[in-house]
Amino acid sequence: MLKVTDIHTYYGNIHALKGITMEVHRGEIVTLIGSNGAGKSTTLSTITGLVRSKMGSIFFEDKDITSLSPDQIVKKGVSLTPEGREVFPALTVEENLKLGAYIRKDKDGIQSSFDRVYELFPRLHERKKQTAGTLSGGEQQMLAIGRSLMTAPQLLMLDEPSLGLAPKLIETIFELIVSINQQGTTILLVEQNANMALAIANRGYVLETGKIILCDDARALQENDEVRKAYLGDI
Ligand code: ATP
Repeated sequence: MLKVTDIHTYYGNIHALKGITMEVHRGEIVTLIGSNGAGKSTTLSTITGLVRSKMGSIFFEDKDITSLSPDQIVKKGVSLTPEGREVFPALTVEENLKLGAYIRKDKDGIQSSFDRVYELFPRLHERKKQTAGTLSGGEQQMLAIGRSLMTAPQLLMLDEPSLGLAPKLIETIFELIVSINQQGTTILLVEQNANMALAIANRGYVLETGKIILCDDARALQENDEVRKAYLGDI
């Protein structure tokens, strides 16, 4: 579904991605794990066209999307829920969700996306007239994911959805990610919480200073000594 080949991304002189090659197959949950600054967010930003790779290619459903604009990439079916939620605090839940559908014209489709989001997140339905700034952190995270789902993505990319949430809420968010996947949306998940990410993923990639150092089935990564020491809190 997604095929990234040898991408190199720079911020000025900083060589943030040094040849990332990875794939996501339809139906999978794939996770990217790595320490702070390893290049996880930059990988997602490059795939969505928010920053440009100097080399390499990105194919989605066998089409070259490397040079497309972020809008065009969303239209192809790729959506990113960015780190830090970034909901519009002064707008209501409903207005935030509506903005997610800004690229769409299919009224019936938009209504069924609303139904899907409200079914997945009943809390958002209860609070649809409430301004987003008054939601709790967990509810804002649900809203950010909901807004991405309003684009009807085939591939949903989530950047640190557990960031800053209490353990119980993290569990809820992870359960919801699994439900979204079971409904047919492919997931690329960036997480600091490698334990939980590997527990729900099919496969994982480990990034270190802009390079992929390991790629394997999630179960194998969970049992890999190096991964356990560096990312799963084993001493
Ligand atoms: P984190 O989990 O801390 O967000 P990450 O793995 O997502 O880390 P990135 O945010 O992709 O890492 O950062 C990769 C490298 O690029 C880091 O060295 C970072 O300092 C640098 N970087 C990221 N964004 C910018 C930017 N806008 N300008 C300059 N350098 C940047």
